Amino acid sequence: MSILSQRINNLSESATLKMTKLGRELASKGINIISLSVGEPDFNTPEHVKNAAKTALDENFTRYSPVPGYPDLRQAIVKKLKEENNLDYDISQIVVSTGAKQSLSNVILTLINPGDEVIIPTPYWVSYSEMVVLAEGKSVFINTDIASNFKITPTQLEAAITPKTKLFMFSSPCNPTGTVYTRAELAALAKVFEKHPNIFILSDEIYEHINFVDKHESIAQFENIKDRVIIVNGFSKAFAMTGWRLGYLAANKEIAAANDKLQGQTTSGTCSIAQRAGIVAYEQGLETVEKMKEAFLRRRGLVYNLLNEIPGVKTNLPDGAFYFFPEISSFFGKKDAEGNVIKDSSDLALYLLNVGHVATVGGDSFGNNNYIRLSYAAADDKLVEALKRIKEALAKLS
Ligand code: PMP
Ligand code: GLU
Repeated sequence: MSILSQRINNLSESATLKMTKLGRELASKGINIISLSVGEPDFNTPEHVKNAAKTALDENFTRYSPVPGYPDLRQAIVKKLKEENNLDYDISQIVVSTGAKQSLSNVILTLINPGDEVIIPTPYWVSYSEMVVLAEGKSVFINTDIASNFKITPTQLEAAITPKTKLFMFSSPCNPTGTVYTRAELAALAKVFEKHPNIFILSDEIYEHINFVDKHESIAQFENIKDRVIIVNGFSKAFAMTGWRLGYLAANKEIAAANDKLQGQTTSGTCSIAQRAGIVAYEQGLETVEKMKEAFLRRRGLVYNLLNEIPGVKTNLPDGAFYFFPEISSFFGKKDAEGNVIKDSSDLALYLLNVGHVATVGGDSFGNNNYIRLSYAAADDKLVEALKRIKEALAKLS
């Protein structure tokens, strides 16, 4: 019998982090691994943000902060939401956390009772369904595929709703597909939610600034449902601050206060130094983000062309984020040199790691087994080499 709780035994390991760990282990043995597994910008945190952290240390911002974050950081977030997204919030509606991941998890723990249903379009970011497992809720998936550019329709949404539905959660731009919902598409989904006043909407907007098609649109802009939308965002992607652990949510006052209470009994306020740096990141604007975006756009074109040259691989052109989610099911049933059969996308990702020395993540952990995820947040020459290795490794399967 396991000494561990049922709760933890029911939880799967994060596939993104697992593949990254396996890649690091091989690299530590001297193997030249190219990591396209973890989704994090390969850029350094901007200088002015790093300097703000140094100043914060010198000014002794080294003590506990208020649990929901320093008031001036929350004020900077309120200002950002107004100026960039035209959304009105009060600082009592903002809760700063140790990253978007913690905010997402906290919102789910705050809203979900055992047995409550959470609607999640597939493919979704690996941790969504596992956070629901932790809260003892039930994930209800709406499947999409490459043919629909990985978007759900209002009809599909309506069909997934039951009297037990408590929450709908999604990301736009999406991890892992890069799909971006247009304003009109969000408006059509909002119309469905208007008919169901007991459903909350968790809108993960962490890739907001990596959008190649248009300005960012939030589903919180629709006044009739705004009170039920919880926006989650953070500094990891836009400011290359993944290690700093800084994110936040914006929600109605009751939900914000509940998240404050939860953090007060678990993590407390996040790192004081990271918070001071976050203020400067928001105050100094988006110049560095724009530069990163240019690089991502160039790399997107590069990887798109190279993927299209690989027989048996089918891909769309993602509108945002920094991932490709190509269809690879034509390789299922094929064998490697030792006669092992590739049964699913995780097998293929492991094969690409062990034989091609490229770390990717199987689509099964994102809810769509016929795909794998590649992050293109890597240098251009590494991407070219990685795609060459993938092509050669796939050609060896028979
Ligand atoms: N949501 C999505 C869709 C992500 O890809 C990530 C990246 N880890 C997160 C949330 C969490 O971001 P953070 O580093 O702010 O916890
Ligand atoms: N968001 C990144 C990814 O999807 C970071 C890793 C993680 O936290 O899952 O790879």
